[in-house]
Amino acid sequence: MNEEKPQPSPIAAENSERVRIPKDVAAEVDRLIREGLAISAIKQLRATGLGLASSKVYVDSRIERLARPKVSCPYCGKNLKSAKAKQCFECCMDWHDPKNICRLG
Ligand SMILES: [Zn+2]
Repeated sequence: MNEEKPQPSPIAAENSERVRIPKDVAAEVDRLIREGLAISAIKQLRATGLGLASSKVYVDSRIERLARPKVSCPYCGKNLKSAKAKQCFECCMDWHDPKNICRLG
């Protein structure tokens, strides 16, 4: 009965810099972008109550993000934030200093 689904905010954070997109919506948006359906992706976001400008910015940032080559962590295999990443936010390994590879946190 009590499902733990992120509730899309009816009053979306139009003025806030960081917008929380529900995970299922984010996955659907990424799928649409991969298929070249950016307009549909924007519509999907608009349906959650997000403003048009914010939806466009989000889709643009995802298009850019999805176009980048994926680089995985040498320690856990999860995707790194960028090709130049020297630490992993999944397993907390840090290899900025190759002589002192450590686990943060
Ligand atoms: Zn890792």
